[in-house]
Amino acid sequence: MSSGDFFQHIRRLRARLIYQRNLLANMEGMQFLKRRLLDDSERIINHLNTVEAMSIANSSNRLHGLSTEFYQRYENLMQSMEFTLGLAAQITLVREGRMSEVRITQADVIAHASCRACGERFSEGVVVGVLRCSHRFHRRCIVGRYAIQTRCPACGIQI
Ligand SMILES: [Zn+2]
Ligand SMILES: [Zn+2]
Repeated sequence: MSSGDFFQHIRRLRARLIYQRNLLANMEGMQFLKRRLLDDSERIINHLNTVEAMSIANSSNRLHGLSTEFYQRYENLMQSMEFTLGLAAQITLVREGRMSEVRITQADVIAHASCRACGERFSEGVVVGVLRCSHRFHRRCIVGRYAIQTRCPACGIQI
């Protein structure tokens, strides 16, 4: 990786992290989890800043790279943030009455009930989301990584 590419790479990692951190910071509730993820974000952003500064200072020598351990921590944090944001979006839908939640019964399984977004058959006991049009979905299929869909994927009504 050339030094120009390396700096671009650092900037990309940092921009992605800052974007997610800001989404999370503006989210209501889940204070404890949020605090921990925001602290981790700050630590990783600081590390990126340090590596960047050291690489600028040592430009005549070899670049100061990012460790495998760092990438692992970065990806884990990203996943936790996405998961938390998805969860917050689900809670918002239920609280606002835009989605209810039901548990799939044996009768549903016999009737081959399936998710109207991904088509997968539901298994008995799973909790799924129901919209006011009565269409049922995996909760993950209604709430994306951190965005709530605005329309029912099956019939198109406004959620
Ligand atoms: Zn689905
Ligand atoms: Zn629908």
